[in-house]
Amino acid sequence: MNDVGYFKPIDDANPKVVLLTIDDAPDEHAIEMAKTLKELKAPAIFFVNGHFMDTKEERKVVKQIHDMGFHIGNHTYNHQNLREVSNKQQKKEILKLNKIIEEVIGEKPKFFRAPHGANTDYAEKLVKDEGMLLMNWSYGYDFMADYMEKEALEEIMVNAPQLGKGANLLMHDREWTNAALPGILEGLKEKRL
Ligand SMILES: [Zn+2]
Repeated sequence: MNDVGYFKPIDDANPKVVLLTIDDAPDEHAIEMAKTLKELKAPAIFFVNGHFMDTKEERKVVKQIHDMGFHIGNHTYNHQNLREVSNKQQKKEILKLNKIIEEVIGEKPKFFRAPHGANTDYAEKLVKDEGMLLMNWSYGYDFMADYMEKEALEEIMVNAPQLGKGANLLMHDREWTNAALPGILEGLKEKRL
């Protein structure tokens, strides 16, 4: 972590370590992605949104992912760009989801990531006061048009110039990321040799 509480690539980390994160979960592929990660023994953090936890079924999915051993992080209730709303609304976006997550998995989330990486001074302080860690990322490509398909995404995630010591990899609950995930994990494992 750096001095304002962000996670950042760790310069002196074991170069074999990267952090895997899946945002905008649980949409349609989170369970399958969790199974892939577990099968390949890759820990990860799933950053969830409250609007994906409206129903009992959706909440069960989050519980299941947590029970499989993954961390559940807060990614705001409505995937709200925090820079576009009042402090009061930012507070609601973060704390309302914290409460739901706690109800579902029995503990408060330890990590927060702002939608679009759009942090505000207010949210940073709130997150810190709540005892959570604010997270950014080193690289992610699955939201860019050129990488919304399996092969291109596998290739870039394994060979990105930003892949370095302790890199923080951003991925999403998306069809093409789900398809590319086994290849990404295998590719990263090979790089560890
Ligand atoms: Zn997001």
